[in-house]
Amino acid sequence: MKNRKLLMIPGPVEFTPDVMRAMGMPTTSHVAENFIEVFGQSIEDLRKVFLSPAGQPFIVAGSGTLAMDMAAANLVEPGDKALVVNTGYFSDRFAKILERYGAAVTHVHAHEVGDAPSLAEVEAALQGVRPKLMTITHVDTSTGIATDVKALAALGRQYNAFVVVDGVCATAGEEMRQDEWGIDLALTASQKAIGVPPGLALVVAGPRSIDVSRKRNAPVGNYYADWNEWLPIMQAYEARKPSYFGTPAVNLVWALGVSLREILAEGMDLRFARHRKLSGAFKAGLAALGLRQVPKRPELLATTLSAIYYPRGVNKTLVKYIDEAGVMVAGGLHPAIKDQYFRVGHMGAVGPADILAAIGAIETGLSRAGHRFERGSGVAAAQEALV
Ligand SMILES: *Cc1c(COP(=O)(O)O)cnc(C)c1O
Repeated sequence: MKNRKLLMIPGPVEFTPDVMRAMGMPTTSHVAENFIEVFGQSIEDLRKVFLSPAGQPFIVAGSGTLAMDMAAANLVEPGDKALVVNTGYFSDRFAKILERYGAAVTHVHAHEVGDAPSLAEVEAALQGVRPKLMTITHVDTSTGIATDVKALAALGRQYNAFVVVDGVCATAGEEMRQDEWGIDLALTASQKAIGVPPGLALVVAGPRSIDVSRKRNAPVGNYYADWNEWLPIMQAYEARKPSYFGTPAVNLVWALGVSLREILAEGMDLRFARHRKLSGAFKAGLAALGLRQVPKRPELLATTLSAIYYPRGVNKTLVKYIDEAGVMVAGGLHPAIKDQYFRVGHMGAVGPADILAAIGAIETGLSRAGHRFERGSGVAAAQEALV
């Protein structure tokens, strides 16, 4: 027996064997030729994964929160106005980070958990506030809600705001076309749909972002996140030259190099389509089991994860039962409904067998929890949708 459980949380996710092998390679110098080559190639590949030919990638050791911190530290000056399109836990986090750098933050909230603010509400806020910058959480990992980034970014641009997208639970899974959609900065972390163990903050800054950071009056209030330090490093590695500011996470960068190659070999359009199909199959299984999801409307459903209410009479012990059936899923995160739902990630290297295993384990868990339903109906619906 493999003696390991299937990891189906919204990050970290399951990684491919080649990515894991890169993690185990003997660590070399950060200025060794073979490392410089992989770092340089990863910078080039990141542009293709973000669909941002004009963007400047930053690959820095840290988690997704550092990527958010880097965006705020370099773009915000004290007193700047920022608008947060708020869909949950990670939108709140972005607001706190922006405030830490002196921004005056206005939120556009959804009216209830499981919803997103309408485009009209966002437009009214843009009109009223005239912010320098607006942030959008592509997929809010606490609720499984995906925002309409394309439409929101177009609105932001219309009102001359810098458009910043937190794609930590989305990029390389959910469709995002950074340059075409007018996104000034997009960011993610290695452990979600990018498919690399936790530890890398990934930022792609568009030309307007780099430009505004160059014209700052106030110094960047975070030494480690300062683009004045990191930009020459990224440019050097891309030119295949050694450079140093902070030691890169050598093995993680190797793993990133492998994963980005795998992602581009699949192709972005096919990868987005695979995520849509697998998510659709998983959600068909949930629907057949009579389980309700947190997002209120079909167009709000993320393709990288599902947030699912426990049925009546079932509580968070279900997560433990699913785990004992061999699949690790996550509990609730949004404070308002924390004990009422659980979350399942289906992004990155996920395949059809994982979807069937996860639905099967949920069925086993529901039975153990004493829930009455038609055994096998969820798996059958998922199978049907996978054909
Ligand atoms: C996971 C996540 C983050 C935070 O990333 P960490 O790597 O945990 O710091 C931020 N935003 C979103 C949308 C996320 O899903």
